Amino acid sequence: MRKDSTATAVNNKNNNNNNNNNNNNNNRDGLITDVEEKKAFFKVINSFRCYGEYMQQNYWKPRAIKWDTLPKEQQECLPWYKSYLEEYRMCILQNAKFLNDVADHAIYSWGYHDEDNDDMEMQPSISDMEKTLSLFTQIVREWSEECKEERGISRKLILDALNSYKDKENTIILVPGCGLGRLIVDLVCEGYQVEGNEFTYHMLILLRYVLNSGLTINSIKIFPHIHTFSHFKTHLEQLKPTSIPDIDIYKSIMSDECKGAINSINTGSFIDLYGSNSNFIRYSDFYSIHPRITRAENTSSKNVIITQFFIDTGENILEYLESVSNCLVSGGYWINFGPLKYHFEDSYGAMDIYQKDVYSNGQEYNRHQNVPLRGLELSYDDIINVSCNGRFNFKLINSKFDILSTYGKNRNNLFNCAFWVMQKKR
Ligand code: SAH
Repeated sequence: MRKDSTATAVNNKNNNNNNNNNNNNNNRDGLITDVEEKKAFFKVINSFRCYGEYMQQNYWKPRAIKWDTLPKEQQECLPWYKSYLEEYRMCILQNAKFLNDVADHAIYSWGYHDEDNDDMEMQPSISDMEKTLSLFTQIVREWSEECKEERGISRKLILDALNSYKDKENTIILVPGCGLGRLIVDLVCEGYQVEGNEFTYHMLILLRYVLNSGLTINSIKIFPHIHTFSHFKTHLEQLKPTSIPDIDIYKSIMSDECKGAINSINTGSFIDLYGSNSNFIRYSDFYSIHPRITRAENTSSKNVIITQFFIDTGENILEYLESVSNCLVSGGYWINFGPLKYHFEDSYGAMDIYQKDVYSNGQEYNRHQNVPLRGLELSYDDIINVSCNGRFNFKLINSKFDILSTYGKNRNNLFNCAFWVMQKKR
């Protein structure tokens, strides 16, 4: 997929560039090299570089201006406010430094150079900037001590379900929408072979930094709560720093006791990479590569798929179900934990969708224009019914509903989650 700031499929496992898109210009050992891909990458890099300026302009400055316009008597009611504003600005600068380091690491590790960025002049959109801000919530959720309890809610359910697999070393698990990789690392430490999949450059860039830049415990201090001004018990809570990561990732994975491994992090849309090749493939903004070979390799290749806070992210949940069923071996398990907060529920976006016969190279069918992104928001019961009573071929093993969970310990985010284990029938 290549929508704005998303990546197409590059299978890091074999270090081959599997991006079969016609726009590919050259191919340097598994690096993303086509022009559009590079633009998408640098748009996100620039959103990281612009963070400090954006935050000062849009978050700090309006408050500083408002403060200056207050009558003296009102200012005297809040003698601490001016130094609070200054401290707030310092937090922005510290976060900006963190994101600059991440951007430097990304340019190096993707094999680009700063000069490549000058050629591109890619301006980040407001939506790119807001996604960059939301990364702070994501990194706290996945890699801070602060969110240990939050992570523990799903972790216990998932690990208990996995315990039915005695042969851990030969159990291959796929985690679609793996975010910043914490679930993957935890599973590897438990002894499993794990494959991740993720498609936004925002996540991929930070994921690679977290996994590969040799961070030691609590070596980075960030201020993740400064992107909102509501719901705080004290204003100091907003300026509270968080240290990351809470574990030494490299040591945890490389220790002799750790029998598991990260097989690969496959970049691109879950549906592009793991969907079914049967009959036709639907093309749209969400399916931008010609995925036949990759899909064939992934069919019936995983023993377990774990979707965590993932199944509500797509524009067509049936295609997620189809992809999960497609890449599980028969008898394999689908473990799900998360809410149904459909990402496109309020979207006015639309896209063109058409089907292609994958075996006749190019013939198109059923072209539909302006198909709304919103729609098909199935309930939990609908999902279970459709999974178990039809072509997806699942049997429900276990389920639990109404599990409340925060996300990144953010007071504004409380989700009503469900957990289930389904088995693909033999
Ligand atoms: N599993 C992580 C992240 C959940 S957020 C956690 O529990 O914290 C959902 C993630 O899915 C995001 O990182 C998003 O970029 C990714 N995502 C959304 N649609 C995707 C798709 N079609 N293919 C791959 N990843 C996708």
